[in-house]
Amino acid sequence: MPIDNTRRPVALTGDRTTGPLHLGHYVGSLKNRVSLQATHRQFLLLADTQALTDNAHDPARVQQSVLEVATDYLAVGIDPDQTTICVQSHLPALAELTLLYLNFVTVARLERNPTIKDEIQARRFGRNVPAGFLCYPAAQAADITAFMATVVPVGEDQSPLIEQTNEIVRRINRQAGRSVLPEARALVPEIGRLPGIDGKSKMSKSQGNTIPLSASPDQIRTAVERMFTDPKHLRASDPGKVEGNVVFTYLDAFDEDRAAVRELKERYRRGGLGDVAVKRRLNDILQEILAPIRARRIAIADDPEHVLKVLRDGTAQSRALTQETLGNVRDALGLFKLDPSG
Ligand code: ATP
Ligand code: MG
Repeated sequence: MPIDNTRRPVALTGDRTTGPLHLGHYVGSLKNRVSLQATHRQFLLLADTQALTDNAHDPARVQQSVLEVATDYLAVGIDPDQTTICVQSHLPALAELTLLYLNFVTVARLERNPTIKDEIQARRFGRNVPAGFLCYPAAQAADITAFMATVVPVGEDQSPLIEQTNEIVRRINRQAGRSVLPEARALVPEIGRLPGIDGKSKMSKSQGNTIPLSASPDQIRTAVERMFTDPKHLRASDPGKVEGNVVFTYLDAFDEDRAAVRELKERYRRGGLGDVAVKRRLNDILQEILAPIRARRIAIADDPEHVLKVLRDGTAQSRALTQETLGNVRDALGLFKLDPSG
C-alpha cells in the first residue's frame, strides 16, 4: 500500500536512460535514495528526453533503457509504495518549464559550467554540440523545481548543475518578486565519484569502464582481475601505492570493515601484500553486494507488467504535481491568461 508522505520534504533525482546502472550509481546516489525513502517524499525520473540530447541517433537504446533502469531501481531496493518513479518524456510540464527557464540563463553561463565543459570535451562535440545538450542544465532545473524538490541525492559531478539550478531559481523568484520556487541542495556521499575500472575518469556508461549492477559473478570477477592498480608494484614483496589504486578506492567505497582496510593499506605500502590477495577480498565483497540485487532482478523480470504499472501510476501522479508547478510559474512570470478567472 502506498504511504502518505505528502507532508515530507521532496527529494528528486533521475538517471539518463542510456544503459544499465552501475556501481558508480550505487555509491554515488542509489544508496542515499534507498535511505531517503524513510524520510522524504521521493521521485525518481527516468530521463529519456535528456538521454536524447546526445543519443538522438540511437533512440532504440534510449527507449530500451527505460525499463532496464526502472528494473535496476526496484532491484536495489527502491519501493514503489514509498517512491514515485516516472518517465520524463511523458511529463510535458517539464518541457514547458525548460523553455521558460532558458530565458533566465545565458549561453556564456552554460558554456562555463564545468560539468558541461568536461562532458562536451569527452564527447568531442566542439562547436557542434547539440543545442539540447548545452541547455540540459536548464532542463535539469525544470526537473528539480517541477517537483518542488529541496534535496537531490547525486554524485559529485552533479554539484555544478544544482548550483546552476539555484541561480535560475533565484532569478525567477526575483523577477516574480516572491518565492515561487525553492532552492535545492545536493546530497553527495563521502565517495562522490567512483572511478572506472580503468582508473581513468569516473565510472560512466558512455566510457565503457563500468561494472553494471546486473553483472554476472564471472563478469564481476573478470572486471576486478582487470582493475588498474599500481603499475610499479610488480612483486608482492614490493612496496606499493594506495593513492590512485582503483582496488583500494573500491575497498574504501564498499568494504565496511574500515580497520581491516586501513591495515591492508599499511601492509601494501610497506610491501608484502600482493594485488591478487587484495583483489580477492574486493571480489568477495562485490559478489556479496550484487548477489541479492541479482536475485531480486530475476523475480522482477518474471512480471514485466508490474514494472509498467509502476511507471504508469508514478507518471500519472507526477503529471498532476508538475502541471501545478508549471501553472504557478506561468502566473509568476506573467503569461497571458485566456481565462482570467482561472
Ligand atoms: P552517461 O555516461 O550517459 O552520462 P552516467 O554513467 O554518467 O551516464 P548518469 O545517468 O549521468 O550516469 O548519472 C546518474 C546519477 O548517478 C547522477 O546523480 C550521477 O552523479 C551519479 N553517478 C554516475 N556515475 C557516477 C560515478 N562514477 N560515481 C558517483 N556517482 C555517479
Ligand atoms: Mg552522466
